[in-house]
Amino acid sequence: MSDTASNMRGSKFLRFRCTHCGNCCTDTIVPVTHHDLKRLSKGTGLKAERFCAFYKADDFDDGGEGLGWVELAEGRRVLGLKKQDKADACFFFKDERCSVYEHRPITCRVYPFQLDFNRQGQVTRMSINDAVECPYELDSSQKLAEILKNWNADDRQDDAYFRKVEAWNRRHKGGTAEEFLRFLGV
Ligand code: SF4
Ligand code: SF4
Repeated sequence: MSDTASNMRGSKFLRFRCTHCGNCCTDTIVPVTHHDLKRLSKGTGLKAERFCAFYKADDFDDGGEGLGWVELAEGRRVLGLKKQDKADACFFFKDERCSVYEHRPITCRVYPFQLDFNRQGQVTRMSINDAVECPYELDSSQKLAEILKNWNADDRQDDAYFRKVEAWNRRHKGGTAEEFLRFLGV
């Protein structure tokens, strides 16, 4: 569990306001875990197959470093949200907004905040993710406790997912994407 250092750098970003440009819902691949898929399925009534996809290293600007690589019959893949047909936008980006805001993946809840920690687990720096252009304003008010809560939940859910991926790669390597989703219990 992480805490807050009193001398945190980048505290100006606690005034962050999203201008809803949509860049982070159109120019990125959103990696997901079984927690996200279950929440989205429950919230939308859709089967996970409808809104998830398996991505190759070439699909990521950085090759997908640090992501959970699943060994499937078709090759190594990363589980993420599907893109819309003939568009780069996330499957759930409708009418210039997130259509599943209440159920959105934990990654989307954390974005665009980045936190650095010291050895004691205290936040020493806050910054804005530069994966896509983010034309934010600094005239609002964010709660660091809420950002930390999402950050810690993201860590826990990623850890649980990575353990599942490791178990799959050990025991079921070479299975199909459908079999992997069943293995995740979605
Ligand atoms: S789930 Fe919602 S917030 Fe996340 S990328 Fe898709 S449209 Fe954007
Ligand atoms: S890129 Fe930044 S300003 Fe644009 S929608 Fe995402 S968080 Fe908001």
